Amino acid sequence: MSNDWMRLAQRALDGQPPSADESLALLRAPDDEMPSIVAAAGMLRRRFFGNTVKVNFLVNIKSGICPEDCHYCSQSKLSKAPIDKYSLLSGDDILKAALRGHEFGARRVCIVASGRGPSDADVGHIATAVREVKSALPDAEICACLGLLATEQAAELHDAGVFAYNHNLNTSESFYGDICSTHTYADRVETVGIAKEQGLSPCCGALFGMGESDEDIVEVAQELRRIGVDSIPVNFLIPIQGTPLAGRWALTPTRCLKILSLMRITNPDRELRIAGGREHHLRSLQAMGLLVANSIFIGDYLTAKGQRPEDDIAMIRDLGFEILGEAHGETRPSVQDESAGESRKEAGIALKSRDERLSPASETGATH
Ligand code: SF4
Repeated sequence: MSNDWMRLAQRALDGQPPSADESLALLRAPDDEMPSIVAAAGMLRRRFFGNTVKVNFLVNIKSGICPEDCHYCSQSKLSKAPIDKYSLLSGDDILKAALRGHEFGARRVCIVASGRGPSDADVGHIATAVREVKSALPDAEICACLGLLATEQAAELHDAGVFAYNHNLNTSESFYGDICSTHTYADRVETVGIAKEQGLSPCCGALFGMGESDEDIVEVAQELRRIGVDSIPVNFLIPIQGTPLAGRWALTPTRCLKILSLMRITNPDRELRIAGGREHHLRSLQAMGLLVANSIFIGDYLTAKGQRPEDDIAMIRDLGFEILGEAHGETRPSVQDESAGESRKEAGIALKSRDERLSPASETGATH
């Protein structure tokens, strides 16, 4: 069988993605096929991204108080999870958090706000903050993730220096109604299109482990290819206590690797990012995930603790990979740098200590 997976990858290289049946066969392959599947997907990863890893850093600038009912999300109106709730951070706090991410090698800074979508005043505030971040970190790629977006808002963000806009499809159109009723799959596709039309790089991915079928996974992988996204965050559900999906632990590490491999073989030259839930679901196989994906979040997620950035950087280096940007002479802290480790305590959301803002019951991933 291993030759079949490599043949599938070779065909993807020639511009022909796997059929639905081939994709289902990959997802349903016995676990002892997993190393061959990863090798085939890894060939594509090497071809398009060499040995580089892009490091991304999340800044959660507004948390909770969302009127939407996304079942996976600890910030939704349905959630009883005891998360931190706060309105938009000040421009200074956004800049401080972005600088912290940059210290750890983050090329992309993802500015995320909860809610159905931003008001025009929110967009104005964020645009001003982005100008400050770009002035301090001209090489940083700024990605905004603010929910459903209007055309003028997308244009304003682009003018301010936002590079990418994240809005995830999360799952297939067929399954979408099972995880959210307050907006539609079509709403999400529309926002991705608006961002793209206004010159923002479309960042759009999915969340797995919510009870979707294999067919749903194949459908969303193919849809992301069809709508032409540039980067694909792959989230694995953290079934948060207090949300409708609490207790739904449906994934295994090998299942996650097969999903990542399918996303790569279907979208061979797109930036594939391992996002929320990797520590819980890939567990000791996290490093194998980077043989397929070329991009990773470092540090904490929206309201979830990630593993220590020092450990992530060590994992990247142990694999023989280099962090995108380092090759150009930028300096990064040593993984043994104690002061750098301290600064992490303030990374991410409210600039409080981790213990103050995190508990196992309050975790959520990187999706919105
Ligand atoms: S995913 Fe976004 S839109 Fe949905 S409930 Fe959470 S914050 Fe609101």
